[in-house]
Amino acid sequence: MKPRVAVHKFTSCDGCQLAFLNLGEDLLVLSELVEIVHFAEAGPVDPDAQVDIAFVEGSVSTPHEIDRIKRIRTNSRFLITIGACATAGGLQALRNLADGGEWIAEIYARPEHIHSLATSTAISRHVDVDLELWGCPVNGRQVITAIRALLFGVVPQQDRDKVCMECKRQQTVCVMVAKGIPCMGPVTLTGCGAICPRYGRDCYACYGPAENPNTDAIARRFEGLGLLPRDIVRRFEFINNAAPVFADAGKKYHD
Ligand code: SF4
Ligand code: SF4
Repeated sequence: MKPRVAVHKFTSCDGCQLAFLNLGEDLLVLSELVEIVHFAEAGPVDPDAQVDIAFVEGSVSTPHEIDRIKRIRTNSRFLITIGACATAGGLQALRNLADGGEWIAEIYARPEHIHSLATSTAISRHVDVDLELWGCPVNGRQVITAIRALLFGVVPQQDRDKVCMECKRQQTVCVMVAKGIPCMGPVTLTGCGAICPRYGRDCYACYGPAENPNTDAIARRFEGLGLLPRDIVRRFEFINNAAPVFADAGKKYHD
């Protein structure tokens, strides 16, 4: 019997599911190896199916999602989060730093119809997670690598280097050294292939914090490049604002 796979959506933009769909021919090969039983964006719908691997995109930001993630955990042998929303709470976790109810009242004509929690949180805050794949969006290669490892019964290996290391491997000119652009590469987990520096722009840390990131040193470097404290806060409090390392680094520069 083929291993059964589900892809679930929580609060998110769907970009990580699109990364799955963008696998193209690899997705067809994958569909020969596994049975995709739930993937609403691609067709099959069976949200309560028992599966071997459940991929989860998106953060928990409604009461309904708390119940749903617990059911999915019960029904899944392995649960893998895909993307910044599922792994750290996503951009929408900025509301954890504000009064979300006030925002809702300002934006919606009938705020009483909006049933959301005061916070947006990572999936691991609610259930055990077997593997976290970072990125906004996650890339398809990571997903395929994780599935292949699990099919062979081994623990998926993750790249733990910093984006800087990937730049060096590819002989990409450092945008911070050469152009004085404040780049988050020295504190960011690689996995994207250092796409942004390859195109001459700074990394904005969509893959989340690397292991042992020296956030104090990079913040001092940003000061040296002329960034004001509020700009340094924004570097850390962006897509992965709720990742604890970035949240702590941002707090130090709040007024
Ligand atoms: S991590 Fe980024 S691309 Fe993926 S669902 Fe969240 S916002 Fe979209
Ligand atoms: S270089 Fe940085 S911002 Fe760009 S895709 Fe990679 S991790 Fe994300």
